[in-house]
Amino acid sequence: MSKKIIIGNWKMNPLTGKEAERLFSGVAKEISRIKKIDVVICVPNIFLDKLTEIRTSKIKLGAQNAFIGETGAFTGEISGEMLYEARARYVILGHSERREMGEGNADINQKIKASLSAGLRPILCVGENLRDENHGYFNSVKIQLEECLAGVSKNSTSKIIIAYEPVWAISTTPNRKDATADDSREMSIFIRKVLSDKFGKDSSHIKILYGGSVNEKDASEFLENGGVDGLLVGKASLSVKKFVEIIKTCEGLSK
Ligand code: PEP
Repeated sequence: MSKKIIIGNWKMNPLTGKEAERLFSGVAKEISRIKKIDVVICVPNIFLDKLTEIRTSKIKLGAQNAFIGETGAFTGEISGEMLYEARARYVILGHSERREMGEGNADINQKIKASLSAGLRPILCVGENLRDENHGYFNSVKIQLEECLAGVSKNSTSKIIIAYEPVWAISTTPNRKDATADDSREMSIFIRKVLSDKFGKDSSHIKILYGGSVNEKDASEFLENGGVDGLLVGKASLSVKKFVEIIKTCEGLSK
């Protein structure tokens, strides 16, 4: 059985490098005995250098976006190669907050391919904005998966992670609602089917995560009953105490 994974998404936080060091080393110190699961924190790029200086074998670093191509005339962008050079090993792509800024499935598809060739593991976020009575949200997620993964080879499946993040459940969505482990399990089965239709048996290497307001209290419910291989955690990853509790819960549930 593949290892479960807990991924933190700090988004555009914290404000200072000092605070980033405090948060990162606080988590590192508390999880030195973790053995059975993988832990990743996706941080703002500006902190990557500083955080690689904090010695820990327990946390891998990730970024939250990557541009296509290695170098070139793309003012303000950072390539996957640059992130790899800065020791990021994972990258969140297609997050709903970036889709909201105008990123489409075709852009995300290019970024996935570019990140894979730079040696990064893409964490592809998919998820519907709303749930409709006719269950059209299954088709929205299917289209996201098919378009974002178009042309990605079967050989890359062991590198890809899918995070199902229903936008209506994310902590910063106005009038958000709680998603349940049943919502997660049902979509995870559906995602598995779409991936299997596309990649055949190689799709079994792809981890599927749930994300959307997971906290230290409901993490075990999503891990035990949500049909997922781990969690993508936003807000709660900004608290050492809460994030460590989520990590330890996952470790405790792993064989
Ligand atoms: C996210 O936006 O990736 C996320 C998981 O956020 P939160 O946990 O804060 O809902």
